[in-house]
Amino acid sequence: MAKIIDGKAFAEGLRARIAKAVAELKTNHNLTPGLAVVLVGEDPASKVYVANKAKQTVEVGMNSWEHKLPADTSEADLLALVKRLNDDSSVHGILVQMPVPKHIDSAKVLNTIDPAKDVDGFHVVNVGRLSTGQEALTACTPVGSVMLAKHALGSLEGLEAVVIGRSNIVGKPVAQLLLAENCTVTIAHSRSKDLTSIVRRADLVIAAVGRPEMVKGDWLKPGACVIDVGINRIERDGKNKLVGDCDFASCEKVAGSITPVPGGVGPMTIACLLSNTVKAACAIKGIETPEM
Ligand code: NAD
Repeated sequence: MAKIIDGKAFAEGLRARIAKAVAELKTNHNLTPGLAVVLVGEDPASKVYVANKAKQTVEVGMNSWEHKLPADTSEADLLALVKRLNDDSSVHGILVQMPVPKHIDSAKVLNTIDPAKDVDGFHVVNVGRLSTGQEALTACTPVGSVMLAKHALGSLEGLEAVVIGRSNIVGKPVAQLLLAENCTVTIAHSRSKDLTSIVRRADLVIAAVGRPEMVKGDWLKPGACVIDVGINRIERDGKNKLVGDCDFASCEKVAGSITPVPGGVGPMTIACLLSNTVKAACAIKGIETPEM
């Protein structure tokens, strides 16, 4: 049976290291990193994410600001708020919770955030820096996914890695990070032919598809490491349940290690957001980022 990769415990450890780094920055540099989160509208899932982000930001000793705007906020008003936050020197990280209402151009919003404060890593400048191997603020879920793979496997150098999914949020940045770790990377997607045989050659599978329990155990190379990014809500036995993109029951019999859902990649996202905020604050102030 596969070793279970405990993302919840790993994220807890990371948050404790971040709290220590934040305390050091306060003592040694009189610097308190600050994260501003902007939520437009009333999406219930987004409200929960934003509340969790604010809570965990405060718990590690950083400043947190929540800007809650009504769903009918104009694009111009949202862009004006982002620009004010860009100019506010106490704010080191800016996150606009996606999705924004349909009348707002999300790309325009993301690209208005100062790249130095873009702690979600979605600004084209940071995406370009990542893909050209330069220092960048990098998307949180991909960073967390690769951290868990390294935690399970040690060095990823030379491994065959298959990423299933090519979204800008997960698939593409994960593939770039794996390339930077010297993996041989294949990106599979909805138009890929014979997905099972692509997955079967992988030492490392990262699934970011959004299809409940799609990857089965008999697709895997025995001993493969499986990082399941998917979060899917399903009804089973009359109960509401969260499942990943991998069929955990069959995959854990074949994989060498696997992340559960929930408790795998999910908790890593906010922890990586906090660490990006510390990195952004240090870069803005010209201070070396403490060990985290
Ligand atoms: P998305 O819908 O933007 O992208 C899904 C990708 O999967 C697409 O590139 C598509 O080509 C590919 N795909 C779809 N059907 C496929 C198929 N049958 N075979 C192969 N590829 C297929 O989704 P996303 O934003 O990248 O998110 C993916 C999953 O990760 C979702 O379940 C989402 O909830 C989850 N997610 C979790 C976190 C977290 O843990 N914090 C963060 C972001 C996303």
